[in-house]
Amino acid sequence: MDCIFCKIADGTIPSKKVYEDEQIIAFHDIQPQTPVHIVIIPKQHIESMNGITADNSHVIAHIFEVIPQIAKENNLANGYRVVSNCGKDGSQTVFHLHFHLMGGKQLNGKMG
Ligand code: 5GP
Ligand code: ZN
Repeated sequence: MDCIFCKIADGTIPSKKVYEDEQIIAFHDIQPQTPVHIVIIPKQHIESMNGITADNSHVIAHIFEVIPQIAKENNLANGYRVVSNCGKDGSQTVFHLHFHLMGGKQLNGKMG
């Protein structure tokens, strides 16, 4: 399958990794939109939030368990935002489920 994030997960495409375990990987976004902009993905291919099921939701729960640690290790003690764009209207561009972990400054309160 021609999926950029599957290739990042298997190491075919290099990335600036900040965290990895058996289930997930986190790396710096190639085009950061905030001073700290990390992308967190399940290693298994799930197209978007619409692909979350009872069978794979433990991986998503795991992502959220690890986010505080990744945030702490990347100087986000003042807070941060987690975003997942879904589908066309959500402006999703990479169709492998991912969560943007963003911060490093006071973020704009507007979200849409
Ligand atoms: P989306 O728009 O789907 O929510 O987010 C996709 C994100 O992936 C974008 O912020 C984009 O900059 C990032 N991205 C796309 N291709 C690559 C890549 O090859 N490496 C890294 N590190 N980030 C990527
Ligand atoms: Zn994929």
